[in-house]
Amino acid sequence: MGRMNDPFDVTPRPVEPGEYPVWDEALALVNGDLAATLPERAPLRLVALPGWEEDEDPHEHVHVALPDGTWWGNHLPDGSDADPVSALFAVAGAAQDTVSERLWQAWPVCTEHTFGMHLREEDERPVWWCPQDHVRAPVGALGTVQRPPGSRGARRA
Ligand SMILES: [Zn+2]
Repeated sequence: MGRMNDPFDVTPRPVEPGEYPVWDEALALVNGDLAATLPERAPLRLVALPGWEEDEDPHEHVHVALPDGTWWGNHLPDGSDADPVSALFAVAGAAQDTVSERLWQAWPVCTEHTFGMHLREEDERPVWWCPQDHVRAPVGALGTVQRPPGSRGARRA
């Protein structure tokens, strides 16, 4: 038996652009939502931890992290970069965990109702759903319906 390998013992490594292109693309969309809602925040990024040596097939685990490299919650599920939709679900969920738990705020928030939104599936695509029972926008498209607080002329009734 190898020694128990605590994933929090090791330093995550920044993921370079192109290493996980499908997750990269999903993260770019989610970062668009972040920019539309929390413009003061720098974009999220991917970090990787080495696999556990006990695993039959040791491979690294990728997390969605704040710019300082910290995250919250589970790593992106293995194989969730097999297609863009799965990747978008995985990355949006991980981003929501990291932002809401590490920054102590509901994210993203529906600016119409000021409720924290949930990730849902509609027409086989991930969407942000507001508890006031409406779909706010597809993941990656929040910028089309809401703008950062203080920006002008962004919305029309
Ligand atoms: Zn709403």
